Amino acid sequence: MANGSFKKKGSAQGSANPNPKVLVAGWIGSMVLVALITVFVTYQFSDDGTEPEASGAGQVAQNEPEQDVVQSSPDTQIESEVTPQDGQVAENEPEPEPAKPQFMPDLKLVGRQGIVQLAASSLPPSDIVASWCRDLAARVPGVESSDCMSGAFADSGHKSVNGRPLIVRQIDPTQKAAGSGRVLLIAATHGDELSSVGTVFNWMNIMADEGTPYEWKVAPVLNPDGLFHEPPTRVNANGVDLNRNLPTAGWAKESRDYWRRVGFEKRRFPGESAGSEPENKWLAEQIKQFKPNVIISMHAPYGVLDYDGDFPAPRKMGSLNLHRLGVYPGSLGNFASRMQGIPVITVELDNADEPPSDREIEQMFSDLNNWLDRYFRSVRQASANNSTPEAG
Ligand SMILES: [Zn+2]
Repeated sequence: MANGSFKKKGSAQGSANPNPKVLVAGWIGSMVLVALITVFVTYQFSDDGTEPEASGAGQVAQNEPEQDVVQSSPDTQIESEVTPQDGQVAENEPEPEPAKPQFMPDLKLVGRQGIVQLAASSLPPSDIVASWCRDLAARVPGVESSDCMSGAFADSGHKSVNGRPLIVRQIDPTQKAAGSGRVLLIAATHGDELSSVGTVFNWMNIMADEGTPYEWKVAPVLNPDGLFHEPPTRVNANGVDLNRNLPTAGWAKESRDYWRRVGFEKRRFPGESAGSEPENKWLAEQIKQFKPNVIISMHAPYGVLDYDGDFPAPRKMGSLNLHRLGVYPGSLGNFASRMQGIPVITVELDNADEPPSDREIEQMFSDLNNWLDRYFRSVRQASANNSTPEAG
């Protein structure tokens, strides 16, 4: 029926208008109509979202990349600011659920070009690190704000007594060799030893220029409250000497005995209980997680090289000569070397304010690397011997 009526209609039009002018006019009219419909349908589909990411959104991302990145980078910052605060929780629950659904659609919309830009925008330091870098450069001789900003430092999420962030930098070995040694480098355990921070920054610059065969974790300011105090103090904001407070064996009795022996010294107060300070809790956790093979702790101003460990000590580092000072209740040498078998090199620079000359700093680092090379060769040798007991 419908077919019949359609046929009928068509044939009726054809036969009822034999005039050629009318036919041409009708033909042009129908072509215009078809063209209009085609244009309309095309617009409908492209606006409709049938293939939105492929064409429509892609064009938006290309035309307005800054806008998208600007929109997404505050999210990135908020995310990185929130994560550190919940650092302890985040370690147990590495993927905060609410962040994902908010963030992923942005990434999709921005498209390939946007992701590249987003990755580049993650290179600048977070607000926390940037502010830390500015403060540090203003306080510590030898620290340049630009070096610090480009240094890929990260907020550990842990804080000092006064809520200052504890900042770390991970440096990977230039050539990824199997079993690359891990080195933990710490400075400003005592906040008034500013030169320790400047020296560590200088060593990091050398590593950035020349590369390193080792994996480093660097904490340039263990005691930020002491360092930023006016004037800087040895102790932390609780008045505790962090290098007497680590949870070493028999801490309570040994500390009390030591206290009696040397007499009251406010600047060496070990705290009320072992490992009580947040800075030391964080340090102990770093040692547990990073599992360093060696720890280097930078101090001043005694001008000597101190060492705790079984492997033969470095004899010299730059102009500093080996002079073993022994360990104290709650000291890092005691905590890491005696209790955990991790060699600890304690560098005592000879000036607490100004770092050594560039030449001296380079010589120290070169001597350190020679020792590290010998040490790690011996470690590899020992583990190779242990893994092939039949050979002997
Ligand atoms: Zn010190």
